[in-house]
Amino acid sequence: MSAATGPRNASSSSPRGDWRGARVTVLGLGRFGGGVGVARWLAERGASVTVTDRDPAEKLAESVAQLAGLPIRFHLGGHDLTHFRDADLVIVNPAVPDTAPPLAAARDAGVPLSTEINLFLERCPARIVGVTGSAGKSTTSSMLAAVLRATSGTKVWLGGNLGGSLLDELPRIGRDDWVVLELSSFQLARTPLIRWSPHVAVLTNIAPNHLDWHGTFAHYFASKLNIVRFQDAARDHIVIGPDPQLRAAFDQMHGDCAGIWRYAADAQSFSAVQQSTAAVDSDDRRVAWPQFELRLPGLHNRINAAAALAVNAALGFDSEPAIAALREFRALEHRLELVSELEGVRYYDDSKATTPEAVATAIGSFENPLLIILGGYDKGADLSAMCELVARRARFAACIGQTGPKIAEQIARSGGRAEVCETLPRAVEACRAAARPGDAVLLSPGCASWGQFVDYRERGRLFRKLLNGDAPA
Ligand code: ADP
Repeated sequence: MSAATGPRNASSSSPRGDWRGARVTVLGLGRFGGGVGVARWLAERGASVTVTDRDPAEKLAESVAQLAGLPIRFHLGGHDLTHFRDADLVIVNPAVPDTAPPLAAARDAGVPLSTEINLFLERCPARIVGVTGSAGKSTTSSMLAAVLRATSGTKVWLGGNLGGSLLDELPRIGRDDWVVLELSSFQLARTPLIRWSPHVAVLTNIAPNHLDWHGTFAHYFASKLNIVRFQDAARDHIVIGPDPQLRAAFDQMHGDCAGIWRYAADAQSFSAVQQSTAAVDSDDRRVAWPQFELRLPGLHNRINAAAALAVNAALGFDSEPAIAALREFRALEHRLELVSELEGVRYYDDSKATTPEAVATAIGSFENPLLIILGGYDKGADLSAMCELVARRARFAACIGQTGPKIAEQIARSGGRAEVCETLPRAVEACRAAARPGDAVLLSPGCASWGQFVDYRERGRLFRKLLNGDAPA
């Protein structure tokens, strides 16, 4: 296999080396590190940086503190459109949709747009594996980084939508390294600005999501497919999961890339098939990896591991060290993470589960009796199927937050046992009282955390603290 090297397909609107004097407006600071990373990187390179966010300073205190001492102007708690008209470049946070008035102002004034990830992609000298999909991006990306660290013999970097920014690492990233990037639909909606796609594109699955941002499912799906749009037909790879819609979309692409790998897993096995294409004159290649156990629960995690193995096979690396790395792989924070075992009861932090589908995935990952902590901010999602499932599968549900009373009522109506606990500390207390040895207790809320917490991470950390005995009362 001939690996691609060097920055790829870049058609930049940002200065190559010298940022001095460039007026750059960063739209959306956020709390996940991308906004902080790009603002710092630009300021350190001499750009004249204005950071503006709809949220007020109090909500962004942590991010603002990380930029202390840098010559950055802040305009928080709203936007001033002159910052978008009188700029040389606008860096837009992935969460901001194209319909936002500041972006219209920039467009009308002819000011070019970029993103933190595009700035990185334009400059990254290493080969990139991009991972997208509706669910499983973070886990698959992290498993893949662990696998490539064990098999590639080179340095492996992990970043993208996982949080933070790899911009600062650029001087340390070498041409022979590998970069694994988790890419969200928001980020991919704007990679066509630089006509970029990765050397290996992984698509885990597709289900309607973020329709408030994308407007339609078709736009969301098309944004995800940008991950392959500018691939090089002769040398790049596509790796797709066991999702019928995804597979149907790629059936039409037969012959357009070096190889399409389709991976799958079940309770016993992991496998992948490389479909031969016009560009590669070979027969289909099947790989069945030996049966092995993961530390992570759930079929979905076996599927994510199969994705990592399929990429590893596409790149021609050995499977044995890859399997050894996957056996040792531990859950990411807040994703069915085993955080405590008390009196024979296991406690799992699945605070990242903010949709009813994620709760169903979590419940499906266990065979033993379950207790579950559910509820939070009301996004208007239909929670009835989730409540029926909980009534069937969980011995007890502790319901918190704005949706707590509604959820408890629906579970009770479906024949289950539920209690309105309002807060997480009370819910943990109720579960501890109701659990018996051999049970699993899941914090898998199926709702966003807003209203009670800054984000899902704060919710998950409080859960862990409560169990380890050092939380606030
Ligand atoms: P993402 O980064 O796409 O949000 P994560 O890896 O953080 O995905 O997992 C978030 C949740 O998505 C998990 O807790 C689980 O409920 C669900 N999930 C993970 N992987 C898959 C998969 N392959 N298929 C379906 N659901 C999954």
